[in-house]
Amino acid sequence: MTMRTNWANESARTGRQAAVEKSGSVSDTFGCYTFGLDEMQRRLPRPIFEAIKATIASGEPLDMGFADEIAHAMKEWAVENGATHFTHWFQPLTGATAEKHDAFIEFSGGRTIERFSGNQLIQAEPDASSFPSGGIRSTFEARGYTAWDPTSPAFLIFNEHGATLTIPSVFVSYTGEALDKKTPLLRSMRELNRAARSTMALMGRPTSAVNATLGAEQEYFLVHRDLFVQRPDLEVTGRTVLGTTPPKGQQLDDNYFGTIDERALDFMGEVETEAWKLGIPAKTRHNEVAPHQYEVAPIFLPLNLSSDQNHLLMDLMRKVARRRDLAVLFHEKPFAGVNGSGKHNNWSLSTAEGRNLLDPGDSADEHVEFLYFLCAVLRGVHARAELLRASIASAGNDHRLGANEAPPAIMSVFLGSRLTEILDTLLAGQSISAVADQVIQTGLEVLPQVKKDNTDRNRTSPFAFTGNKFEFRAVGSAQSNATPMAFLNVAVTEALDEMGERLKTRLDNGEDRNEAIFAVIKEVYADAKPIVFNGNGYSQDWVEEAARRGLPNHTTTPTALTAITSESSKALLARYGILQPHELDARYTVLLEKYNCMLDIEAVQMIRMAKTGVLPAAYSQQSVMADAYAKIAACGIEAAVQKDELSIYSGMIAETITAIDGVRQALSAAPDDEEAATKAEYQCATMIPAMDRLRTVCDALERRTDEDLWPFPNYHALLFQ
Ligand code: ADP
Ligand code: MG
Repeated sequence: MTMRTNWANESARTGRQAAVEKSGSVSDTFGCYTFGLDEMQRRLPRPIFEAIKATIASGEPLDMGFADEIAHAMKEWAVENGATHFTHWFQPLTGATAEKHDAFIEFSGGRTIERFSGNQLIQAEPDASSFPSGGIRSTFEARGYTAWDPTSPAFLIFNEHGATLTIPSVFVSYTGEALDKKTPLLRSMRELNRAARSTMALMGRPTSAVNATLGAEQEYFLVHRDLFVQRPDLEVTGRTVLGTTPPKGQQLDDNYFGTIDERALDFMGEVETEAWKLGIPAKTRHNEVAPHQYEVAPIFLPLNLSSDQNHLLMDLMRKVARRRDLAVLFHEKPFAGVNGSGKHNNWSLSTAEGRNLLDPGDSADEHVEFLYFLCAVLRGVHARAELLRASIASAGNDHRLGANEAPPAIMSVFLGSRLTEILDTLLAGQSISAVADQVIQTGLEVLPQVKKDNTDRNRTSPFAFTGNKFEFRAVGSAQSNATPMAFLNVAVTEALDEMGERLKTRLDNGEDRNEAIFAVIKEVYADAKPIVFNGNGYSQDWVEEAARRGLPNHTTTPTALTAITSESSKALLARYGILQPHELDARYTVLLEKYNCMLDIEAVQMIRMAKTGVLPAAYSQQSVMADAYAKIAACGIEAAVQKDELSIYSGMIAETITAIDGVRQALSAAPDDEEAATKAEYQCATMIPAMDRLRTVCDALERRTDEDLWPFPNYHALLFQ
């Protein structure tokens, strides 16, 4: 069934826009809906402003004695801009964001006033008992509370009647357990900052802070809302559980960077305009590989802020899509056989002075720093490959990793040939000092070429060096960046600490600093080299080669997630105070339950669509065929072909009925939900194959059934209209 409607349905837009419109150029309005540094400077006494600035720059804790004054200034600003409510905005383990609004309204001396106290700013206690905690909250009988994160500015979200002051927050239990995704991220940033600073000090170039930076490229599909609502699978599960691939999909490669569809451009423009006001520096937009697939990429920012903003941007995109009669799909694989969507996490390290430590730089000193930090990342990813793989595991990403245009499930690092050659030269090296001299003296010629070399982008790598940053490409489009980034931070922290110890020992032994640094670089590279892979990650050869190198290859979520609770991961994350072993057990359970639940929902959805949509359509088609056969035969004409077709088609209906029953049986024979790990294995071994069988027969029927009888918009309609 196909349908066309008008995409840019202006009338669907509410008065909201008009109510909040601020005109002016981007530079005038950028961040106007955030309580950012400019606004704070204007409204706060200098010592308080300086304290907040220091907290943002270096992660130093803020003196909560300032809370009342900050809260007052924040409220004044918010109310002047039309705010009526405030909310703590946090990131529970669901992977989405959560908020509970309270009005500023209070009674005082018989009058109604607007009040917002320091306590309300710092802390709130949502009734959050329904958020997943993996058993932590009941075990410890601990209530959850949200606490203001001063490093991420508060912002305003408008509705037709005003606005809500939205305060980025962490979500923790009274006994200190993290109940969210943001707390471990902040802790990992603190540790990475510490480790990187002591590295810089050992290198003789001390700095007051090293902050991780993130630029998150977000891929997504846009489909017409009228079609979307006729696909209950898309609405409920985020992906099409049935649907046959169109004759022309993306084979011609003519969509990537193609002219942007006007309807999509209108959508993007509206998203960007609102994003800028919220301080989200949306910069790049383009078509992606598949039809109706796009990407938006903001300019990079400090990691925590950028991670928050990605959530905000996704929310904004959902809202704008609705207003414009579109639906935005963030699922990693909404359409089988078509390119999936990722969220490329561009990550680097920036000093307080603004030096990007993963930029080769211009001076000999910078080259040395660069190589050292580069090797720390290699070591981190090599040593903690399984943890990083676990951080991106989800039912959705399982469809994407290793499929069309997506990196494989094997963690490896793409360095590019030039950089690999430099490191190999170092490793093969004559005496270390000779190599060091070579690199340092010819540094200006050698290293800057690294950047140019990276034009040969490797799309098949899950983790690629791209000239002055790493790009963790395997992260799924629907996922929060917080966990992948937290685990990456910890992996690199561990590497820096270990390397720092070696360096320190050498320096204490009186070795020349540069010689010592290069010695460590060489040792670390020798160990971590198996993680470097510049070839085609899609090839079967790589799967075999990776196995020979001893690199793990977890192709499904249940096996990938086991790394979270391994003894070694628990020791690592506890050592750095990121998450304690029982918290990791809890997270493991939450993630498995989410996986199991997603598959259950998909299975039920599939059965329903097959029974109430596919079969009735197939019976209609069958009856048309039977009529045709009977009429032809009644005329005394040979109708063997029609009879064959009818019997093949009838056979397919029978297979569909059997396959429906297969999924139904798989559902009823499933292990108990409480046995999350056993059930997850069952989902992989039994449920997914049963669903695959059902899909195969339904899709075969779709190819033989009159399009007008088919009950769901097909791939052609979804992807080309
Ligand atoms: P691509 O060719 O992958 O699109 P871009 O240069 O456009 O590369 O950058 C992609 C993303 O990487 C953007 O979000 C950009 O801001 C971000 N980025 C650039 N430099 C850094 C950095 N030092 N740290 C983190 N992200 C960065
Ligand atoms: Mg990129």
